[in-house]
Amino acid sequence: MTKKVHDELRQGQAFDPLAPDPNVFTKKFYIESYGCAMNFADSEVVASILQQQGFGATKKFEEADLVLVNTCSIREKAEQTVRKRLTEFKKAKQAKPGMLVGILGCMAERLKGRLLEEEKLVDLVVGPDAYRTLPGLIQDAETGQKGVNVLLSRDETYADISPVRLNSNGITAFVSIMRGCNNMCSFCVVPFTRGRERSRDAFSIKKECEELFTNGYREVTLLGQNVDSYYWVDEQKDMIVTFAKLLEMVADISPLLRVRFSTSHPKDITDEVLHSIAKYENICKYIHLPVQSGSTRLLQLMNRTYTREWYMSKVNRIKEIIPGCSITSDIIAGFCTETEDDHTDTLSIMEYSQYDMSYMYFYSNRPGTLAARRFEDDVPLEVKKRRLDEIVKLQNKISYQRNIADIGKTFKVLIEGNSKKSENDWAGRNSQNKVIVFGKKSYDLNKGDYVNVQVKSATGATLIGEIIQS
Ligand code: SAM
Ligand code: SF4
Repeated sequence: MTKKVHDELRQGQAFDPLAPDPNVFTKKFYIESYGCAMNFADSEVVASILQQQGFGATKKFEEADLVLVNTCSIREKAEQTVRKRLTEFKKAKQAKPGMLVGILGCMAERLKGRLLEEEKLVDLVVGPDAYRTLPGLIQDAETGQKGVNVLLSRDETYADISPVRLNSNGITAFVSIMRGCNNMCSFCVVPFTRGRERSRDAFSIKKECEELFTNGYREVTLLGQNVDSYYWVDEQKDMIVTFAKLLEMVADISPLLRVRFSTSHPKDITDEVLHSIAKYENICKYIHLPVQSGSTRLLQLMNRTYTREWYMSKVNRIKEIIPGCSITSDIIAGFCTETEDDHTDTLSIMEYSQYDMSYMYFYSNRPGTLAARRFEDDVPLEVKKRRLDEIVKLQNKISYQRNIADIGKTFKVLIEGNSKKSENDWAGRNSQNKVIVFGKKSYDLNKGDYVNVQVKSATGATLIGEIIQS
């Protein structure tokens, strides 16, 4: 399966960085993260701030002095999962008086009152732009006050904070390049939970990527809700850095450093960006281009600002400028007023676009969003689920066909580590972000190396290959 930005397998995962040194770290923190890659990247910023305060990470929440949950509000289910987890932590707190429990991220603003005052589940509530104030808030909480800061900022990007790489494979890393979103898609809560869009200083991004490369990393994924609208002005040099320029700045660090990015809003991805991808071998031939729906009528209700035909022409343009480029998508089934015809339009745009992978969801009404205020959530749950099931089945079929079509091709693969099933096999990815598993044989290779692999067989999720001697 291609690498997911919103990876279900990673949800809730607790991080365990280097074993905390008791001489440096006098207290322990435990953190688990939910939702998109931005949240996982934010947890690495939080870990850096906590380390400065003498907190070392632990994998066992029972022994932590501070338990943090970095939360997601994107769908109702994500919120329910976090609530369940908080009640478990409440029990651990009873067994270890003095333990502090806090929520970070997107649920903070929306649910602060309920979680703090009514249900008394947490001691700390910290929104995504307020992590610098964590040390003071922890002190407040230690003295029995509630530590709350959910203020959103117009300029916070944490540019100067060097994230602590948590649970890393040492080869691939996420680098946050912007925060917030100005798009106001009607179904989406992100503009309310993460605030206005702002771009991070381009030189701090480049510096972070250079440090990662020096430390052995070989792939960076530049992260933002809408990376193509990245725009940063260097006032000293009177220079504008667009996303295409930023991509090139990072790709220039070394041909051995692969560059990926996520997510692109179809309306913003320009020919300039496509040409940069085509020009640089180390900018990966992979674009996550969420369609959401194949029906122009629904796209309008969703406020996506493009039509079905416009999206299809963007797919054509990508394939024209970057032959062999992989495209993946996000799809929502059962948005307000969706008819069977609208649903059929979604299925047919999937066929047309030939996505290698998609994240697929049924619509979840989020309080406060434009859709919640303007439209009735009128597609019955069983219809949403049935349509989602049809979408998933079609995607599985397309993914399998696309993988089968790779048999016989040779790809340059970045080795990420042992395969999950056997220490005798490596697992890595090609530029198109597909996982390839292949035998180590007697070659002297290490993770972080590039190797040419010919695909011999495939499942819907993985390519299986053999090393080709160069
Ligand atoms: N900024 C990205 C974009 O526009 O493509 C994605 C951000 S969002 C964290 C990830 C995905 O969650 C969206 O693309 C959408 O498919 C899905 N999503 C957002 N709100 C949703 C909702 N209310 N119900 C179901 N899925 C939703
Ligand atoms: Fe949400 Fe749309 Fe912004 Fe993506 S672009 S975060 S879907 S509002």
